[in-house]
Amino acid sequence: DPENGFDHKPRILLMGLRRSGKSSIQKVVFHKMSPNETLFLESTNKIIKDDINNSSFVQFQIWDFPGQIDFFDSCYDFEMIFGGCGALVFVIDAQDDYNEALNKLNLFVTKAYKINPNIKFEVFIHKVDGLGDDSKMECQRDIHQRAIDDLADSSFEHIHLSFHLTSIYDHSIFEAFSKVVQKLITQLPALENLLNILNTNSAIEKSFLFDVVSKIYIATDSTPVDMQSYELCCDMIDVVIDLSSIYGVKEEQEPAAFDKESSSLIKLNNGTVLYLREVNQFLALVCILREDNFDHKGIIDYNFLCFRNAIQQVFELRNKTQSPLTNSIGSPV
Ligand code: GDP
Repeated sequence: DPENGFDHKPRILLMGLRRSGKSSIQKVVFHKMSPNETLFLESTNKIIKDDINNSSFVQFQIWDFPGQIDFFDSCYDFEMIFGGCGALVFVIDAQDDYNEALNKLNLFVTKAYKINPNIKFEVFIHKVDGLGDDSKMECQRDIHQRAIDDLADSSFEHIHLSFHLTSIYDHSIFEAFSKVVQKLITQLPALENLLNILNTNSAIEKSFLFDVVSKIYIATDSTPVDMQSYELCCDMIDVVIDLSSIYGVKEEQEPAAFDKESSSLIKLNNGTVLYLREVNQFLALVCILREDNFDHKGIIDYNFLCFRNAIQQVFELRNKTQSPLTNSIGSPV
């Protein structure tokens, strides 16, 4: 089974005016391009840019607007485009005049809602690296207010929009995507619960379940996320992937040489340990714990195997009522 039981991967549609930053976001998040390189991305005239990246847990499609879009044009199968997507991410360039972007946002959100009222609508207020803290907040307040006023004017005040401040120059774009993707994962409470159990029984402080290719975390335990820990874990994934693509055995599948046995350990000079284990072909677990508690590595590894089995079951048994067996997880001695 090439999809490994993931027949309902989260599908995300990325929309926005030309030059708002969509291709850059795609390249940085899903193709490891460095932010500076996006300056040289060529503009294409293609309207729909597919990115069915099978090595990623998240499926992703970009949509550009060539001036006016005619909703009656039979070239576009809107039923299919909106019907099959879980979230519509609308990118607004915060460094530019956003009147036109707000008009398009209203147009597309209402159109999409009529076809599929279950879509989650997410607005990325993008390129905020160019703004100071005050103007960031002011910009978010203004865009938020005007977007919901516009919806109310067109009698769609019941549509819910979520807003995120993003930039490809820091981790905010990954953090925003993580939140978007998490809303689309019906198994999220079960995953969180498993991570909590794993942490408690292994004396782990924080753990993230990552989509390795995109570095989006699809779940974490219920303690608050601090950006620094998240960034550390992202960096660790980069190191592991880079090393295994240089020294690992090359295989047909990407990412090369990242397999069931993959694990990695990084000790920081503040007495903290980062521990990574592969969960399945898309997902990896990255944990942060105190070095002293890593003495019980045997228990942690045993608990991880239970955790991995349980994750597998969560995805396989999605539609069944059985809950995964988690009571076999051991405790530190
Ligand atoms: P698209 O037409 O929506 O796909 O837009 P592009 O991805 O081609 O981006 C247009 C320009 O915006 C490029 O020069 C990018 O380098 C730049 N850009 C994209 N994201 C950001 C960001 O977060 N901050 C800044 N400062 N520039 C960005």
